[in-house]
Amino acid sequence: MLTLIEKIIFVLLALISAGFTVHGFKTIIDSVRRGRPAPELKNVPASLLRAGVMVLLQQTIFKARKVLSAIHLGLFFGLITYAFVNLVDVLEGFIPGFDLVYGGRNFAFTFLPAGVINAFNLIADVMSGALLFSITVMMARRFIVKDKRLTYRDNVMLNPKILAGGQAKDSLTVGVFVIMHVAARLLGQAFRLTDGADPFMPIASFLSNIFGASQTGIHVAWWVSIGWVLYILPYITRSKHTHFTVGPVNLGLAKQNPRGLLDPAVPAGTKLDPGAKFLHDLSWKRVLDSYACVQCNRCQDVCPANFYGRPLSPSALEVNKRYLIKEATFGSHPDRLLLPLTETVISAEAVWSCTTCHACVSICPVGNEPMADIIDIRRRLLIDGGEIDSGVQNALQSLATNGNWMSKGKRLRGRWAKEMEFPVKNATEEPVENLWFVGDTASFDERVVPNTKMVARIFQQAGFDFGIMYQNENNAGNDVRRVGEEGLFEQLVEQNLQSFGKAQFKQIVTTDPHSFNTLKNEYPQFGGKFEVKHYTAVMAKLFEEGKLTVKNPLSGYKVTYHDPCYLGRYNGGFSAPRRILQMLGVEFNEMPRNCENSFCCGAGGGQIWMGKVAPGERPAENRIKEALTTFEKNPNDKKQLFIVTCPKDMIMYSDAVKTTGNEGKIEVRDLIQLIAEAVGVEMPLEAEAVAS
Ligand code: SF4
Ligand code: SF4
Repeated sequence: MLTLIEKIIFVLLALISAGFTVHGFKTIIDSVRRGRPAPELKNVPASLLRAGVMVLLQQTIFKARKVLSAIHLGLFFGLITYAFVNLVDVLEGFIPGFDLVYGGRNFAFTFLPAGVINAFNLIADVMSGALLFSITVMMARRFIVKDKRLTYRDNVMLNPKILAGGQAKDSLTVGVFVIMHVAARLLGQAFRLTDGADPFMPIASFLSNIFGASQTGIHVAWWVSIGWVLYILPYITRSKHTHFTVGPVNLGLAKQNPRGLLDPAVPAGTKLDPGAKFLHDLSWKRVLDSYACVQCNRCQDVCPANFYGRPLSPSALEVNKRYLIKEATFGSHPDRLLLPLTETVISAEAVWSCTTCHACVSICPVGNEPMADIIDIRRRLLIDGGEIDSGVQNALQSLATNGNWMSKGKRLRGRWAKEMEFPVKNATEEPVENLWFVGDTASFDERVVPNTKMVARIFQQAGFDFGIMYQNENNAGNDVRRVGEEGLFEQLVEQNLQSFGKAQFKQIVTTDPHSFNTLKNEYPQFGGKFEVKHYTAVMAKLFEEGKLTVKNPLSGYKVTYHDPCYLGRYNGGFSAPRRILQMLGVEFNEMPRNCENSFCCGAGGGQIWMGKVAPGERPAENRIKEALTTFEKNPNDKKQLFIVTCPKDMIMYSDAVKTTGNEGKIEVRDLIQLIAEAVGVEMPLEAEAVAS
């Protein structure tokens, strides 16, 4: 079809395009290789294959925004189809007689059955329509409807190029490309239909009725369609659309360690400074994250800190990283890579706003880990003497001297146990089957101690052999590590490991999801390999084995349940609390955000220690409203309860009920309080005070 001169021009342009594309990918590889070593990945080919299948099935994008994700299918499969279509179009341009129209006839490859050609034409035609529809919706969303989810809060740090509309320009360029490319291809097919309509090309046939056949039209349409590809390929390597290629690879190289195990502050086998100050202090994998980022803001949608009006957007962090690399690589600011990350990609205030809830990582369709960057930045800020909140400072001070964040003397840790009506074994002095790691809040906070006593009474009633470590227990260090205080974390781990060394036990049980997480996932790195259970799993088993029985079914209660981040999203502990609630006979109402999509209470990652309280609706307040809205869908006279299984949640949500003025409408209770009532463990006066 193409003339000789056209073929020569095309080959020259294709070579130039390939050169720029290869250069683009080379800059990506160079930049990624400058990152620090990441934890070793095992069986990478299998991981990449798995990721390829997930991407092909579009599994990861359907975690949120179902309707938009469905529309995105048209784009995704349309572009895949077009990779083949473009190849065929190039062949049509270069091989005389290779013309796959007219009811399956072609003059070059006569061995091709007509059915194959017709099927190809039908798929190409239908996918062209799907592509045009999807891209039109996406463009309308950004430029006409101006979906707020694609924007950032005013207080979020953004690269000047983003503020100047860089992302919108990117989207416009690629949107216009897709429309021009597909429309030109459809028109080109329409111009070929000299013999009339082809039933296997309904859209092209429709256009042919309007425009008729045209040899010049075929050439112009071919050049518009394929010429655009030569421009867009190198452009993709320099724009946010790099995610087309890097996203699936990034997903295949995503973290393999358990979610609850942080990467080390200093990469294994190196003597580098801990944490990250500059972009290339991040591991290579997290430099790659910025290229993989779709810039979809799904992570921002689920971020409790962003909801609370804090200047944190996990998505802006990734996008800023990308723009920083771009201006250093292709722009005139290579020096900006020498500026601290807190001046280029995320403000220090935003860094200290993260609750480490993992929601951003869990929702990300391409396996990005913005939260891990934040923790690395905290690690270095602490070492460099950066300014930190006075409340956090006090908590860390107390943890270093007392082993707890509540400024309590070590000996007071076991005071609640000494007040019990039966002796609570000291596991460091006599063997026990179950070592109960109580945690700071459950040991010291007067609002939570009654629940702690109830756990002990229920264990006692079930004949569950347990002991605690009294003053030998120290804070497990989960939140200390997430604040970035790696040295103090290691000190606490060492102290606890020494205490465990004095004790004889089969497994550890804990009432605190934060302790549960680090004991289960991080202590093994320091030699502490134990079976660790959260109390909900233990209680569910006691019921299922008949060691606990429901004497008083709780059918008068209407409850909802909040999944704590460190039990649920981090460790998959979704089922046991729900099984228990079912056994207790309550009316259970699930909130819309549950299990993997649970909304953080706002306390984690050291936020509960913060001295300064920011204005705005707190995540816990929003969650209480969500519970009440859920209850409203099923109105009746039953007592409405908000059930938690984390001591910090007890505090956060009890406060939120008060500050939202909902006392009397909903009560916050630990699951243990319901279990106590159902199995007939006497509720002490102090517990009633908590419950009311
Ligand atoms: S971990 Fe949670 S709070 Fe932190 S950035 Fe991610 S979503 Fe936001
Ligand atoms: S980090 Fe992931 S979820 Fe967030 S904007 Fe990028 S691709 Fe989307």
